[in-house]
Amino acid sequence: MRILFALFALFVAAFGAVEKIWSDSELNASESGEFLRFSLYKLEGNATGNTLLVVGGVHGDEPGGYFAPSVLASRYKIKKGAVWVVPNLNAESIAHSRRGIYGDMNRKFAKIAEKDRDFDMVREIKKIALDPKVDLILNLHDGHGFYRERWESTIFNPRAWGQTLVIDQKTLADVKFGAMDEIAKRVTDNMSASLKEEHHFFRVKNTETRYKDEEMQKSLTYFAVTNLKPAFGQETSKNIDALALKVEYHLRSIEEFMKVMGIEYERDFELSAKGVQAVLDNSGTLKINDKISLELTELRSVMRYVPLRGGGADRFVFSHPLGAAKPIDNRYDIYIGNKRVSSFYPQFFSDKCKLGKATIAIDGVNNEIAIGDTFEVENGFNVAPIENIRVNVIGFSAKGARNESGITIEKKDTAPRFSEDVRGLIYRVEFYRGQEFCGMINAKFAK
Ligand SMILES: [Zn+2]
Repeated sequence: MRILFALFALFVAAFGAVEKIWSDSELNASESGEFLRFSLYKLEGNATGNTLLVVGGVHGDEPGGYFAPSVLASRYKIKKGAVWVVPNLNAESIAHSRRGIYGDMNRKFAKIAEKDRDFDMVREIKKIALDPKVDLILNLHDGHGFYRERWESTIFNPRAWGQTLVIDQKTLADVKFGAMDEIAKRVTDNMSASLKEEHHFFRVKNTETRYKDEEMQKSLTYFAVTNLKPAFGQETSKNIDALALKVEYHLRSIEEFMKVMGIEYERDFELSAKGVQAVLDNSGTLKINDKISLELTELRSVMRYVPLRGGGADRFVFSHPLGAAKPIDNRYDIYIGNKRVSSFYPQFFSDKCKLGKATIAIDGVNNEIAIGDTFEVENGFNVAPIENIRVNVIGFSAKGARNESGITIEKKDTAPRFSEDVRGLIYRVEFYRGQEFCGMINAKFAK
């Protein structure tokens, strides 16, 4: 069974376009099993300028390194220039919260066997990195400890990676933004004004890869640099516990790079601990087969009898860039990054029935509600009967009625344990025609 967790979508915003690209046709080595793939978001300003490529999630156990670009992809608008974002390069390892389930992906950029499970991802990101439009590349990580030039302890020492901008060499001659050491120095200096703790300062770490670091010669940044693309590793510290703070540091650094590159942007939240936490707490929505829409933020951790098509034909579309549906045994596990938000136990139905909308009396007033929508209700709702269509409100049962249309349903008539959300407010209103599933509408009661 192949997994489809995100599909082409095109959003046009006031400031320019955000295009989500998933190169499905080229990433099709999935015959041997299911795996998750990365997405590419192209945030393009209306005014032309330089293009920054931000790559997150090459290591699946470094959440700052993939939640930060997911915030960038979803909450920033670019006014001038462009930012391309791959938030989840190693999506499969992210869902397992492991560095690399097929080995270290960031050691596969010099040489990779065609049968390697990471082969397609590596080939694809190389192609994106070498796109002539890309002027500068950031590869995001959460590294061990805090980098210091002198040995102080196992946490603070020259071998630590945390809180650094890593460069493979000082400069690239005759290349725009080729003064990598100066750029990195400027960014780390500008970061110093916004540190939460004194010891969180950022430093430039030059690995002098060509002469001194054989391991780093296999990395994405070195691949880029040897192809004359300025590239930086950007590392927060694994020894900073709060995810929100790691994300904040990554975003501050990215903003400094944008300033260096003359890229103009806006974001719709405050770049503070509180502001970032609020963004991270929102898991967004999941649409399935254009028939179901679920709020993931307060969704129950187990959802039963989710009406699906089966046979690998289900289409999951997440609003969150790190959303993924992973088939496991007889269920789908629903992830936001490394966080499992729910497990869906499906029930399979024919998908033939198409029902655009339903008429529902909400607190006594008739409304047309589209399939997949959510309506809010104070007291009660009543779904108008539709010929040949059976209505099933999950968590409600009327004695003797198989079809629950034409019945006014109040909150007190529902069993909270059947609600979609943990607060017991949202209920599934499902429509069926015989053995065919026609769609779902969410009824959300006021507190
Ligand atoms: Zn890493």
